Amino acid sequence: MHEMALCQGILDIIRDRAAEEGFDRVAVVHLCVGALSHVDPHALEFGFDAVTRGTLAEGAELKINRPAGQAFCMACSQTVTLAARGEACPACGSHQLMVVAGDELRVEELEVS
Ligand SMILES: [Zn+2]
Repeated sequence: MHEMALCQGILDIIRDRAAEEGFDRVAVVHLCVGALSHVDPHALEFGFDAVTRGTLAEGAELKINRPAGQAFCMACSQTVTLAARGEACPACGSHQLMVVAGDELRVEELEVS
């Protein structure tokens, strides 16, 4: 499962921050998962629970922020906002879109206890 590997990566980031900042318990993890990323937030939550068991992030709450994406439409030459991957251009209905933002996944903030 692709989300499992992502969760492992998130845990690595948390561990690196813990080593740098000297905390040993994480209460809340704020994630930014772009609306156009190929990530299923439910699978991410499930994977996160499994991967963090027995670690400093065990039982931590995941808060997933899903910003809308942006794409450049090659048919009408506009930058448009897309709520989900696979949507057509809201201005002209074309599918000739090039995603320019909203496919990212990153850790935005950690609340430590
Ligand atoms: Zn268009």
